This record gives sequence, structure tokens and C-alpha cells, in this order.
Amino acid sequence: MDFGLTDEQEMLRKSARDFVNRVCPPERAKEWDEREILPAELLRGYSDLGWFAMPFPTEAGGDGGGAVELTIIAEELGRASFDVTMSFIGVLIPALTVFRWASSEQKQWIRDEIMTGRHRLAVAISEPDVGSDAAALRTTAVDAGDHYVVNGHKMWCTGGSQPDTTIAMYVRTQQASRKHDGLSLLLLDPASEGVQIRRMPTLARHLLGTTELTLVDAKVPKGRLVGPENRGWEIMLSNLELEKVLLSGGYVGAAQATLDDMLAYAKTRQAFGRPIGEFQALAHDMADLQMDIDAARLLTRRAAWMLAQGQPCNREGAMAKLKGSETYVAAARLGMQVMASHGFSTESVMSFRYRESIVTTISGGTSQIQRNAIARSMGIRAY
Ligand SMILES: Cc1cc2nc3c(=O)[nH]c(=O)nc-3n(C[C@H](O)[C@H](O)[C@H](O)COP(=O)(O)OP(=O)(O)OC[C@H]3O[C@@H](n4cnc5c(N)ncnc54)[C@H](O)[C@@H]3O)c2cc1C
Repeated sequence: MDFGLTDEQEMLRKSARDFVNRVCPPERAKEWDEREILPAELLRGYSDLGWFAMPFPTEAGGDGGGAVELTIIAEELGRASFDVTMSFIGVLIPALTVFRWASSEQKQWIRDEIMTGRHRLAVAISEPDVGSDAAALRTTAVDAGDHYVVNGHKMWCTGGSQPDTTIAMYVRTQQASRKHDGLSLLLLDPASEGVQIRRMPTLARHLLGTTELTLVDAKVPKGRLVGPENRGWEIMLSNLELEKVLLSGGYVGAAQATLDDMLAYAKTRQAFGRPIGEFQALAHDMADLQMDIDAARLLTRRAAWMLAQGQPCNREGAMAKLKGSETYVAAARLGMQVMASHGFSTESVMSFRYRESIVTTISGGTSQIQRNAIARSMGIRAY
């Protein structure tokens, strides 16, 4: 058994750490969030490091990296902010999903546009009335010969309004007796006629932004169907599995950076003639938090390792997502208490972490849904 990273993985970790220090330290990530911008230097930086091609197979023009490598990058970027992790891993997840099911033309497009960093993908599953119960989605795509005619409404599509972005959109192509049947995946050009896109005002996650889409008789060419028609549920599950595992690295990195910040503060801030970190009430809470972060990191590495081996890891991915996101929320809450009034100032990075942590137990599947999945794997049907 080996809990360490290989030499190559350690080099990757160091170069990702160096990238965060140079390009996106937390103070800058906070500023970008406040200005609601996705700066060009961030995307250019990922591209210059060759990261957009990294996880695709070598025979398809990629570098053959795997899930473990992506969670290492996710963790380092999470030290800047979880939103920074999203700006890289979040746009790769739909691309990796599409690649798995893509036609040869679609694979060529991924090689030319996605691996080079020229283009990105966003994913649209959720709708105004449909979140956790994703299979109940209602947006319809009707076969009209060489294209589909799409009508409906999508919500919370992260990054959907960014330039050079195609939306991987799940639609209903058939009314079936079982809601999971009859779904399909289409690649939507958001500039198409009949598509309206609106950026949603949110508490955080302002780099890519979250968007609402209204589709009225929008045309999507047949060549933009990914995988077999009506097999969208299976494709969506593979997207969600990737999302749970890979993004968990981001929760771990964000939680660790939050703890590191409060620890540094607790070692220098004095009260009653001693550093506040020496008060057992705070020291024990921080010790517990480090243990939780380590547990989240180990769960993430296990799930990533299983994914890289091609093993099913729905349960392990749910555990990593649940533990990682809940630990980030707990870390930010404790950080606010340790830094007290200084955390409460919106000038502090801690207040930014507090604001952005809250949504991590909601987006990508809520904590309750992860617990349901874990319980189901234990033979309990939880509702
Ligand atoms: C910042 C952000 C980014 C997002 N990005 C995307 C994106 O890029 N693409 C996309 O498609 N979606 C995206 N989403 C949507 C996200 O996936 C949903 O918000 C999430 O799945 C929960 O759905 P909901 O918000 O509709 O809550 P609901 O499903 O309405 O849930 C409400 C509450 O009921 C609970 N609940 C529901 N069902 C059960 C159950 N069976 N057992 C126990 N409790 C239950 C939930 O846990 C929650 O507490 C994003 C959301 C946010 C906030």
C-alpha cells in the first residue's frame, strides 16, 4: 500500500502550487469574484501548462493523464478558491464526458478546440422545477429531420454565458413510461436563434458565473447529438460521477487553505497575554478540522484512484463529495470564529471563503442526495 504521490505527480503538484502563487493567489481570486470576471490570464495559464490536453488519451492527441492527476490540480487550485478549481476542472468534466461518447467528428473537434484551450464546455441539466430529481427534466427536443427543435428552460448552467463556450445540454427526446428513459445529450451553440441566456445574481461563484437559458424553437443540428439518442441518462450519470470525484479535490484544497489561514492568524493574534491558538477551545477545533481535511483528502484520492482504474465508484465519489464539501463549509465557519471581527470584514479572504463555501453542499448534488446514494449502496432505500 502506498499513500504517497509518484515523482511525476509531486512535480505536477508543485507546478500547480507555483501557478496559484504566481497567477491566482486567494486575494486575487477574491478580487476577480467581486468584479465578476474570468480573467484571460487564468485560461491562458492553464493552456500554457498543457492542462487542457492532459487528461485525454495519447492516441486522441492528449497527454494520457488521469483522475488522480486532475484531483491533484483541483486541490492546488482550490487553495485559491473553489471557483478557481471550477474554472479549470468544471469546464473539463463535460468535455471528458462528451469525449467518452463522441463520434469521430466530435472527437476531432475536442482535439482541435478543447485540448488547445480555444473552446470550453458548460453543462445544462437543471431546470427551474428540476434539481436533485434530474431525470424529471422537461426541456424537449423534437426530431425535425436534419435537426432537433428544442423548447424549454435551463437553470444554473455554470459558465454558459462565457465566450467560446458550447453547452452540453440534456433534453427529453422521447416521452417514456420511466422518466430516466428518453433523455439525450445535445451540444448547443448558445448563440443559436431561439436561445436566450441570462446571468444569475448569486452570493459567489462569479468567475464562470451561473446562467439561465430560455429555449424557444431553437434548432440543434443532428450532428450535435452525443452518443445514442435516448441514452442520455447513462451519459449524465457518467458526467455526475466524474464531477463528484474530480471536484472533491477542490473542496479539500479550499478547506486546507482556510485552515492554514486561520492557523497563521491564531499563532500571532494575542489575547490575555498569549496567542489565541493556545486556548484549548480553539486548538482542539483546529485539530479536529485538520483530521477531517485529511479524511476528505484520503476519500478523494481513493475515489480518484478507482476512477483511474475504471472501477465503478459512485459510492466512493459520493463519500468524497460529501466529506469534502461539508468540511469546507465547517472550515470557513470555524475560520470566521477564529478571526472574529477581522474575518467579518469583507476585505478579508476568510469572508470570501465563507461566502463561497456555502454552495458547495448544494451544487454538484446536495449533501442529502450524496447520503441517499451512500445509503442505497448499503442496501437502504433512503428518500
Ligand atoms: C452555484 C451553482 C452552480 C450550479 N451549476 C450547475 C450546472 O453547471 N449545471 C446544472 O445543470 N446545474 C447546476 N446547478 C444546479 C445544482 O445541480 C442543483 O442546485 C442541485 O442539484 C440541487 O437542486 P435544487 O437547487 O433544485 O434543489 P432541490 O432539488 O429542489 O432540493 C431542495 C432541498 O430538498 C432536498 N432534497 C431533494 N430531494 C431529496 C431527497 N430525495 N432526499 C433528501 N432530500 C432531498 C435537497 O437536498 C435540498 O436540501 C448549480 C447550482 C448552483 C447553486
